[in-house]
Amino acid sequence: MNKFMKKSMVIVLSLVLLFVTVSKVNVKKNVATAKKVYKVAIDAGHQYKCDTSTEPIGPGSKTRKMKVTGGTRGVKTGVYEYQLNLTIAKKLEKELKKRGYEVYMCRRKHKVNISNRKRALKANKSGADIFIRIHANGAASSSVKGVDTLCMSSKNPYNKNLYKKSNKLSRNILNEYSKATGCKKRYVSHVDNMTGINWSKIPVTIVELGYMSCPSEDVKMQKKGYQKKMVKGLANGIDKYFK
Ligand SMILES: [Zn+2]
Repeated sequence: MNKFMKKSMVIVLSLVLLFVTVSKVNVKKNVATAKKVYKVAIDAGHQYKCDTSTEPIGPGSKTRKMKVTGGTRGVKTGVYEYQLNLTIAKKLEKELKKRGYEVYMCRRKHKVNISNRKRALKANKSGADIFIRIHANGAASSSVKGVDTLCMSSKNPYNKNLYKKSNKLSRNILNEYSKATGCKKRYVSHVDNMTGINWSKIPVTIVELGYMSCPSEDVKMQKKGYQKKMVKGLANGIDKYFK
């Protein structure tokens, strides 16, 4: 090998080394900047027909509750809660996908029979990071209105380890939903008798979109423009939770 060849070899080797180093740095950079894609499980509460048979309200519990209750109904519009819940769930799915989330839907049709326990198990299995249960409220008094959210208490015998995150999720959704819709902000309630919460292994919230027993709120919740605000509020709450 003459001097010239040696020099050329050294240059070529140096270039190869430099290329390998730069590629490695780039790969590392890409890994570091890759944004985690969060997955949201959505359950549109209730279904076409209730299921009065029972199931345990939590893992190992002797207390049993109806598998799926009937839900409420719009006092003015006559729309059933299971219909409103699915309408909003589907719109939320679309909005979340637009914002870069993955979404798992516990149901897409009305004529299904999926118990509350099964819905939680489906959400657990889906690989979702959080579980959003969509419901609407009913009260004896027609003047009660606004948004509520619910999750387990810090003493829940089944999944109290999820209390902190579920409470944060419930609070974020309550705040952002009332901000986006302008509806009355009610409370985060802590309850330990909800089957769909107790079987959950991921942070979970129930959002009660509004009161179908209040004529004005019932009518409002069927308006396309208002539904857009409802969905925006829910999605903003989810964004806030992950921020
Ligand atoms: Zn409900």
